[in-house]
Amino acid sequence: MIVLLFGPPGCGKGTQAGFIASRFGIPAISTGEMFRAECKAGTELGKQACAILAAGGLVGDDIVNGMVANRIAQPDCASGFLLDGYPRTVPQADYLASLLKKRGLPNPTVIFMEVPDEALVARLTARRQCPQCKRIYNVLSRPPRNAGVCDDDGAALSCREDDREEVIVERLHAYHELTQPIKQYYCPTLCRWVDGNQPPANVSHALEELLSAKVEDDSLMAAFS
Ligand SMILES: [Zn+2]
Repeated sequence: MIVLLFGPPGCGKGTQAGFIASRFGIPAISTGEMFRAECKAGTELGKQACAILAAGGLVGDDIVNGMVANRIAQPDCASGFLLDGYPRTVPQADYLASLLKKRGLPNPTVIFMEVPDEALVARLTARRQCPQCKRIYNVLSRPPRNAGVCDDDGAALSCREDDREEVIVERLHAYHELTQPIKQYYCPTLCRWVDGNQPPANVSHALEELLSAKVEDDSLMAAFS
C-alpha cells in the first residue's frame, strides 16, 4: 500500500496520517521529519540539506528525491508507506513514478483531504495559545474551562501571529497554487477525495473505508492474474 496524502494547512492531515499508519501498519513519512533525521544522522544528503536550510534556502528537488529514495528503501517500508508532504512539484512526482516503477512497486493511492477555505479560516483563527506553557486551545473545538485563560496556569491566552486571518488566507492561497499542478498530474486516474470538513473520527472512518476497499481490489486483481 502506497499512499500520498495531501491537504491544506489546518485540515488535520498529520492526525490522519498517524491514523492510517497505525491502522494499516505502514510508516507515515513526512518530509520535515525526514530532513531532521538525515541532518541528525549526518548523511551526505543531510549535510547538504542542513546547510541550505541553515542559510534560509529552499532544498531542491534532487536532495528531496534522494532522501525519499533512501527512506522508502528501509525495511519498515516493505509492505508500504505513506508520504505526507511529498511530492510537492511535478518533477518530484515524475521522479517518484520512475522510482516506484524501477522498484516494481504499484501506483500510489493519492488522497486529497478537502476542506473549504472558510472552514479552515474559522478553525485556525479560533486557536489560542498560552504564552506561558505554550498549550494550544481552540475556542470552537477545544476551549479552556474558563474563557480566555489557560487551564494549567491561569495565564491569559493569546492569538499567535501565525493564526491571524491574513496570514492564514495567504498560506491557503500558497497551498492551492502549489498543489494545483500536482492535482492535475494525478487526477483523475489515481486521485481519491475525502471530506475533511467533519469530525476527525469520521474523517478516519472515511479513509479507512477507502483504503480497505483498495486493499480488497488489489488482492482480487492478484488472485485473478
Ligand atoms: Zn498555560
